[in-house]
Amino acid sequence: MVEGAFLFGAGDVTNTRVCVTVTAETTAELRRKRDEVTGADLVELRLDSVSDPDVAGALAGRQLPVIVTCRPSWEGGQFKGSEDERKQILSDALARGAEYVDIEWKANFTDLLSASAGRRVVISSHDFTGVPDDLVGRAQAMRATGAEVVKIAVKTARLSDCLPLLDLGAQIARQGTVLIGMGECGLATRVLARKFGSLWTYAGDQRQVGQVSLPDLLDVYRFRSLTGNTEIYGLTGSPISHSVSPAMHNAAFGAARYDAVYLPFPAGDAGDFVTFARAIGLKGASVTIPFKVALFDLMDEVDAVARRIGAINTIRLVDGRWIGGNTDAAGFLSPLRDRVKLNGARVAVLGAGGAARAVAVALGSSSAQVTVYARDAAKAQDVAMTASAAHATLPPPAGSWDLLVNCTPVGMYPKVNETPIDPQLLTGRDVYDLVYNPTTTKLMRDAVKAGGQAIGGLEMLVAQAHEQFEWWFGTKPPAGVMREAALKRLAEFMRQ
Ligand code: NAP
Repeated sequence: MVEGAFLFGAGDVTNTRVCVTVTAETTAELRRKRDEVTGADLVELRLDSVSDPDVAGALAGRQLPVIVTCRPSWEGGQFKGSEDERKQILSDALARGAEYVDIEWKANFTDLLSASAGRRVVISSHDFTGVPDDLVGRAQAMRATGAEVVKIAVKTARLSDCLPLLDLGAQIARQGTVLIGMGECGLATRVLARKFGSLWTYAGDQRQVGQVSLPDLLDVYRFRSLTGNTEIYGLTGSPISHSVSPAMHNAAFGAARYDAVYLPFPAGDAGDFVTFARAIGLKGASVTIPFKVALFDLMDEVDAVARRIGAINTIRLVDGRWIGGNTDAAGFLSPLRDRVKLNGARVAVLGAGGAARAVAVALGSSSAQVTVYARDAAKAQDVAMTASAAHATLPPPAGSWDLLVNCTPVGMYPKVNETPIDPQLLTGRDVYDLVYNPTTTKLMRDAVKAGGQAIGGLEMLVAQAHEQFEWWFGTKPPAGVMREAALKRLAEFMRQ
């Protein structure tokens, strides 16, 4: 690395860069982790995390440009020494030619800024409680310090907390800014950094501030291929941090070579999602609990299947109009095609929640004889009415069904040894378990042992995502890609 020979033009947001944040217990370890970073443009060396901060040691032999940061505890960092010691470290980093040095705006280290005429300085501010009222004034004051780059990070508690950053980015992009929404609601500011006018985005394992890992940023969200025209899709609901939908849809977008990206949008409420979606220019979304009904009520138009179910799971925006649909019913039926004859079949549906409602409607439209079983008779009756089905309390009597569908979460990870039905009641008939984590449940194993065939929830999960893709783009997704991505993501969750 040629010292001081860097860097990006301050206003160059046509190619937003990736900076990986590295922390360690010692300078030696920090250097080792620094050198393990591949695929990024910059490495942020968090000298406040090490017990022996040594600027020369941290900079020696670097292969990538670095930002030297030594964050004090009053700005969310771990530095244990005095402000004078901290200032000395930052001054040393500038003197030794670090490509960038991060100086907190509130530290008021004006002499460091004057000494370097602001060159190579990232002036930063972090608000861990929310979005300051006068964000534009803040940005102007920080810009007035003469620093080359202005970095503003704010805590986002709702999706719409990202919008002041979006407005700010539109006003001051091309002036060398990095704008970050901390927290899981701020993911869009990190992945869509270019849209927010940022010079670079931070990646790494600082999950507490909402950082996305480098592999996820590059491989799942395909950060390098996002452009100014990238279409934005996503998933809204709460909680959704463990959803496999982003992995499935992004893999399909990539395989189809679409300039589109799919992000999790954990909205505070349905209104928060709508406000954010309009401002960001969302093209379409998957919808999950608890917004399937609340968003239904906000649509300009809802398709016939969603109306029968009384809930939506997919949105697309066409000429500013919000259209709601439901792919759960079609997704549920898809794995049954060619395997189970539904016309006239006796089907026992266990559970009376949102999934049971979609399943009952799908089965009703296939001329099956459906009985909905729940522990609460009134809820079973309510679902049964949507599909002219019968209803009863759990459990269904042995031998009373040809196909049993589990629409309860019983057997789902981590309670993988549970099953919604006593194995003694399984008499060699078929079972369809909507639970997809694990991919093979105890209910499925019991069913196979009893001589029946078992279908797992992963097939429905993938099939309903295929339906969504087709609804948005008018073409089928590349075969096998979503399933493979879902399996990979589920395996990663199990390892965590
Ligand atoms: P939901 O709306 O919360 O409904 C859950 C239903 O299960 C309710 O009727 C609930 O009864 C019942 N239930 C919960 N625990 C039970 C227990 N221990 N014994 C008997 N009944 C119990 O959830 P949902 O959206 O319908 O989802 C249900 C399951 O389907 C989840 O595991 C979900 O992951 C899965 N799912 C899979 C797919 C897929 O694509 N594979 C799609 C949608 C859902 P109470 O009302 O009495 O609590």
